[in-house]
Order: sequence, then C-alpha cells, then structure tokens
Amino acid sequence: FIHKPLTRTTNSAALFDAARQVIPGGVNSTARAQWSGWMPYPLFVDNGNGSRLQDVDGNQYVDYLLGLGPMILGHRPSGVTRAVVDFIERRGTIFALPTAEEAVLAEKIIAAVPSVDQVRLCNTGTEAVLYATRLARAFTRRRKVIRFEGMYHGFSDGVYWSKHPALAKAGPDDRPNPVAQGPGMPEGVEENLIILPWNDADILADVIGREGDEIAAVLTEPVMCNTGCILPKPGFLETMRTLTQERGIVLIFDEVITGFRLGLGGAQERFGIRPDLTVFAKGLGGGFPVAALGGHADIMKLVADGTVSMAGTYTANGIAVAAANAALDELARPGTYDRLDRISDILREGLEAELRAAGLPVNVVGIGPLMQVWFAERPIENYRDAERHADQGLFRLWWEGMLERGVLFHPGAYENLFVSTAHTAEDIVLTLRAARDTAVALART
Ligand code: PMP
Repeated sequence: FIHKPLTRTTNSAALFDAARQVIPGGVNSTARAQWSGWMPYPLFVDNGNGSRLQDVDGNQYVDYLLGLGPMILGHRPSGVTRAVVDFIERRGTIFALPTAEEAVLAEKIIAAVPSVDQVRLCNTGTEAVLYATRLARAFTRRRKVIRFEGMYHGFSDGVYWSKHPALAKAGPDDRPNPVAQGPGMPEGVEENLIILPWNDADILADVIGREGDEIAAVLTEPVMCNTGCILPKPGFLETMRTLTQERGIVLIFDEVITGFRLGLGGAQERFGIRPDLTVFAKGLGGGFPVAALGGHADIMKLVADGTVSMAGTYTANGIAVAAANAALDELARPGTYDRLDRISDILREGLEAELRAAGLPVNVVGIGPLMQVWFAERPIENYRDAERHADQGLFRLWWEGMLERGVLFHPGAYENLFVSTAHTAEDIVLTLRAARDTAVALART
C-alpha cells in the first residue's frame, strides 16, 4: 500500500495533527487508529444523516461503516432522537432507581428473542460478555471457556485473547495457543480459556468429549464478524448446541453485531438455535450506548438472588432505555427486515458481480445487512484461512478506490460492511457504479 494522502481531506489531516498531541494516537478507539487501517489518518466527521456521512472537508459518502454497526436505522433516526430528547427534557437521565420503561424494554427483547426469559441491561458489549462468562462459570461451577480464534468479544482480560494472533505464535491449527492481545494482560488468565478454530465440529466434539466436565461455556459469535464475515458451515451451530446441551455447558451467543441486525430475533432466529445466554449491544440502541445480557431463567436466577452481581452507575440510564425502546419499535414495524434483506442482497450480489466482471478473485460473503468482500481464490472458513488465503493488499486498494468514489466502510479486511434501513435504491446504484469503476481500475494495476 502506498500511504498516499487521500485527496480532498486536508481538514481531517489538520484535526488529526492537533488531536494526536492530546489524545494517544489522535483517536479514542483502536478501530479508528492509523494502525487499524486508517492511513494516513482517519476522516473526521462533521455529521451523519440517514445513510450518508459528511466529513469536515464537506465530502459526502454513502456510509456502510455505520458506526461499526449501531446505526441500523441510519444516522439521526427521528423516532429515536425524539424519544431521547423528550426523556431528557421531561424526566432526567440517571436516578440510581428503576423507571417503568426498563421492564417495557425487557418485554420487547424477550418477545423478539425466544431464548431470552429475562434480561439485564449494561452499557457495552465488553461488559455484557464479561458478565456472561462470569455467570456461566458461577452457574456450572466450572472454570474453562471455549472461544474461537479470530473472534472479538470485547477487551476484558478474560476474553481478549487470540483475536488476530500472528500465526507464528498461534500454535497448531487444531489446538491453537491462547495469544494475548498484547502486554499488560494478567498472566494465568489464559489457563481458563480453550481456543479453537471456528467451523470445525469434529475438533469441538473432541475437546468437549475430553474436557467437557471442566468447561463452563462455549462463547461464539453465531456469524463470525470480526474476521471479515464468515458464515457458520451448515450444521456447525446445531452441533455446538447439541454438544453443549449434552455436557451441561452454557452456550453463549455474542450477538453484539448480529442482534437486531439479522432480524428482530438476531442470528439465533435466523438459524433456529437457542443459546442459553445472549449478548446484545450495537443494534439495540439505535445509536445510543446500551447493551444487554439475556438468557434462560435458571441462569438469570443467579443475578436475581445476588449470587452474581451485575452493577453499574450508568446501566439502564434514561437515555439508553428511551433510545432502545424507540429503536425496537422502529425495527418491529412490519416489513423492516424484509426490505433490509432485499436491498442488502442486491448490494452483495452486485458487488460480487462487478468485481468478478473485472476478473478479480472475489467472494462477497454475508447474510442480510452484514457482509464483507474477500479477495480470495477459495472460500474462507476460519481465521487461519483468512490469514493464509485472503489478499489484504488488494482489499486495501479496493477500500481506497471506493472511498475516493464516495463510498465509506472500514479499511480493515477483517471488518464488515453494514447496511441500514435508511439506505435507498439510489445509494445502492451509486455504490455499484463506484464498485465497477474501482474494480476496473484494480484489474488494470
Ligand atoms: N462482541 C462483538 C462480536 C463485537 O463485535 C464487539 C465490538 N465490535 C464487542 C463484543 C464489544 O462491544 P463494545 O465495543 O460495545 O464493548
């Protein structure tokens, strides 16, 4: 990659130079850092409006970054904005006491997601995963958690392992070593983790067969969204459900990305699997920070009786609850997900057609309004496949070409394109035209 300055983004460049004096790396999240792909600097945002985002140089983009997922209703969805402003103006924000709206929201989540009997709110996906694994350990009185290489479940010490390890450090394909995300993680935590390759039911069965009595939980995204987009092989999630059930292991679905995106009932509705615990975040809040942990009443009972504490000054604050209530009402409107799927299918198939027409080796993998372009000659089934067979350099050029043509998504090949209910047919036409021009230019290089 040639780190060429993007054209027409000089105000972003200046703001970045100023920000990095006072903010480490100039940004407030690693996913916005230079080394996560935003080279030479991230775009600084002026505003978002529906499916569009405008940077501080006045450039407009069709936005498939969508805040990395939360903006499923597009930017500034009026129903959510109104609900939040109204709540703040008439009621307040934080009381350290419950409001009636919390149970209203819980009922909506329970109605939408059949595996959820009861649900507790928190603020971020990281928190909700931390609680889910703690609860699973408390419930089973076992200590180990299986997690899969290439997934991300937030940055807490207990799970921030083997997200994207260098293969030289990652051990054998069938039994990866836990690799810490970096220094500063307490030693010994990894003894409670078993890292496995995703999408391999035989290996999962073998490990659960041998070590099942020590395993508290299997923690997985139902669709792998943090190594690009990788779909579960047919039968993989079903096998996972059967194996965990047989050995009394808590199955935790991390639906931070898929929840309220692949349908009101998330990926579990789509695939017809009932996990024991589910983590929600992004889509739930329509752009406001809120997360939730829901699950089987037998397990949630440990929270009810105080055996496992779930606390937080900001949990279920008025803004979060008002936003989530309004977002779920909006999403529950008849036809919402049908339309979202339809427009997303056109986008996915169109992108693949344009890139293939230019002779590029490509698969556009996704489900509903969630997808990623893989520049690879063969299907990608897990993290090591991606590391070995996907062309990250080509992805980078693709990203640049699309950005130059007014289409925004994350520069990382291991991220996703997100579609919102605000995306229009015109957006898709613009995007596919940009894809054709970019693909032709890439084929020439
Ligand atoms: N789980 C998954 C699957 C995620 O994608 C993310 C965030 N991208 C998280 C957990 C962590 O969520 P948060 O950023 O809200 O802490």
